[in-house]
Amino acid sequence: MHYFEYKNGELYCEEVPIKKILEDVGTPVYIYSAKTIRRHYKVFEKSFSNIDHLICYSVKANSNIAIISLLKQLGSGADIVSAGELKRALKAGIDPKKIVFSGVGKTPEEIEFALRADILMFNVESLEELETLGEIAKKLEKKAPFALRINPDIDPQTHPYIATGIKRSKFGIPEEFVIEAYKKAKENPYLYPIGIDAHIGSQITSISPFVSALSRLKRIWEELINLGFELKYLDIGGGLGIVYKNEEPPLPQEYADAIIKEGKDLKATIILEPGRVIVGNAGILVTKVLYTKENILKKFVIVDAAMNDLIRPAFYQAYHKIIPVEEKYEEFEVVDVVGPICESSDFFAKERKLPKVKKGDFLAIMSAGAYGFVMSSNYNSRPRPPEVLVDEDKYYIIRKRETIEDLLAFETIPAKYL
Ligand SMILES: *Cc1c(COP(=O)(O)O)cnc(C)c1O
Repeated sequence: MHYFEYKNGELYCEEVPIKKILEDVGTPVYIYSAKTIRRHYKVFEKSFSNIDHLICYSVKANSNIAIISLLKQLGSGADIVSAGELKRALKAGIDPKKIVFSGVGKTPEEIEFALRADILMFNVESLEELETLGEIAKKLEKKAPFALRINPDIDPQTHPYIATGIKRSKFGIPEEFVIEAYKKAKENPYLYPIGIDAHIGSQITSISPFVSALSRLKRIWEELINLGFELKYLDIGGGLGIVYKNEEPPLPQEYADAIIKEGKDLKATIILEPGRVIVGNAGILVTKVLYTKENILKKFVIVDAAMNDLIRPAFYQAYHKIIPVEEKYEEFEVVDVVGPICESSDFFAKERKLPKVKKGDFLAIMSAGAYGFVMSSNYNSRPRPPEVLVDEDKYYIIRKRETIEDLLAFETIPAKYL
């Protein structure tokens, strides 16, 4: 569900013609729809209205401060994984008491920054991290609210790179060590256990892995309550999948109902950390056709966006629908859509039936709102594209295009090489 639609043969985002934005900022460009983000957030939020809950938007999915700010207006908290993301969340005006801090490798500096900011809780991923958190809390004489992230050993049946709760993955603490760790934490009065947490992966398209993870968490929760711990937050992470091609992910209401059913008799505030499901289908990457060419075996459409701008196809073999900005074609052909980077993995589509585009035409790469710009790089010394947020009949440049000077600004040549 999104608000990118054709009107009179031309692609619009809400009430703004895409071509109008292209005339202003050029290509490649990320374009997001505020109305789509609001709609997704509200549907998600409403699905959980029958249970005490807190939504902490997973900032890493799309961390532009305008997007975080838009979500803050709707009441969202934030799930962050670095000091940089914490800074973004605070700058966007998110209430620190709605911020949870996840991640396997929080540095002491990051922990100190978050403690001073008085965030809601640390989702701790190892026993050594718990010890470090305790030491820093003691030094600052501040209580450190925490949950342990459990590795529930559940296969979420998604791409292996985004499965995070299976036994051999680096995330979380194995179940068998968890109770001992909570007990150990009692030795340090600055460590303040207030919840438990799991996040099993991303782009998950069935309900059962979530229910299995929650039932594991529930068992541990009950054991801890029996041991006298006063827990308040049960954080089940994010991971709900979206439609890129023909997936059939659960509706937010179905997902919520399953969680509510499993979690309702616990006296817990359920924390949810959705990322992709909020922003994924709310963004597109628009690119210009530079050239077309063919060899005996294949036809290629060479575009001005590349894997440095959107790495998902190269990285996860991810499918992104591609549509023309103008609906004016009668002929179709099977092509590879590729970027200018010197890597064979630099593609957006392989053997895809597309309208027969020509040099200078524009294509929209759909569902690029999550893990798009945030994963971009400057490989091949390519300045990163701008980000534009459309809201009804207006649009805002929420990140300007980088320049080549920007790329060189951090480098110096030692005098001896001059
Ligand atoms: C990435 C991540 C999320 C968000 O995952 P989505 O699939 O985008 O919903 C939530 N929690 C944690 C800990 C994460 O690492």
